[in-house]
Amino acid sequence: MVIVMQRGAAEEQIQKVIDRLTGEGFDVHRSTGVERTVLGVVGGKIVDHRDYELLDGVKEVIRITQPYKLSSRTFKPEGTVVGIGDVRVGANKVVVMAGPCTVESREQIESSAAAVHKVGVKIMRGGAFKPRTSPHTFQGMGEEGLKLLHRAASQRGMYVVSEVMDHTQIPMFLEYADILQVGARNMQNFNLLKELGKIRKPVLLKRGMSATIEELLLAAEYIMTGGNHQVILCERGIRTFESATRNTLDLSAIPVVKKLSHLPIVVDPSHGTGRRDKVPPMARAAVAAGADGVLIEVHPDPDKALCDGAQSLLPEQFEGLMKELQLIASAVGRTL
Ligand code: PEP
Ligand code: MN
Repeated sequence: MVIVMQRGAAEEQIQKVIDRLTGEGFDVHRSTGVERTVLGVVGGKIVDHRDYELLDGVKEVIRITQPYKLSSRTFKPEGTVVGIGDVRVGANKVVVMAGPCTVESREQIESSAAAVHKVGVKIMRGGAFKPRTSPHTFQGMGEEGLKLLHRAASQRGMYVVSEVMDHTQIPMFLEYADILQVGARNMQNFNLLKELGKIRKPVLLKRGMSATIEELLLAAEYIMTGGNHQVILCERGIRTFESATRNTLDLSAIPVVKKLSHLPIVVDPSHGTGRRDKVPPMARAAVAAGADGVLIEVHPDPDKALCDGAQSLLPEQFEGLMKELQLIASAVGRTL
């Protein structure tokens, strides 16, 4: 960090700041200008910069390094590729993950699996434990749903991504899921993140609805600190004052994350917009902007869906979107 002292700060004040910094193990490079003194501070330790802002004679404290390390591109310049069987997220091929919001019955999940498999999807989504805003709505089929999803996907050679809501569910997910999804509402469930750091399976980490990109990367850092480096980030929209869409899909997060981090990032335009007609344009835009994949809700009969029917594509719409995404991917030098 850099500490800029106030114009005319007393030598005693400057020395106090330097003493505190060296006491904390930092190297301090002092530059005394005509107008003011600037302190360049170097050292590995993470401190609360506000502690220094409060010291007498300090004008401002400028942070120049990021608070996250393992997830940062400075730490690892080359992009990370997360492997799920023969699927590689973060490589040249854009990965499509699709399926219903939630597993509702054997028939529904089989018909969803058939629909997405038909158009080449390799990773199937479906929630078995649902984080619903209201406790009076369908909460998911639980373990039975996860088993049905696993069966429908694996019989067709597809992998499974599903949301784990609590750390006690991890062993069950290790058996039936290939990617463990952390939902937006759990992005800062630090106990869950720490436990996911102990496993050696990919984690899809969704951005919290009011989280900054830095907070998303710090959440990834929790998982990676435990030794699990297979983290896929997911932009799924954030809360803003705009009410025309369910959330505001922050596509600028893609280039921002690509610059700050080596981790792959996928985009969920279904939760990002909340309306079926808005999903294809935003999915196309996500691929154009450099997303490593998209996560899309598809339902065989959305009008009868128990959850998120309004944002789920019909199988034929999804088929059309896949063709469009192929064109966009090749236009930006990728495949699909
Ligand atoms: C989901 O993908 O099923 C989901 C609940 O999404 P989010 O956590 O982004 O709301
Ligand atoms: Mn949903």
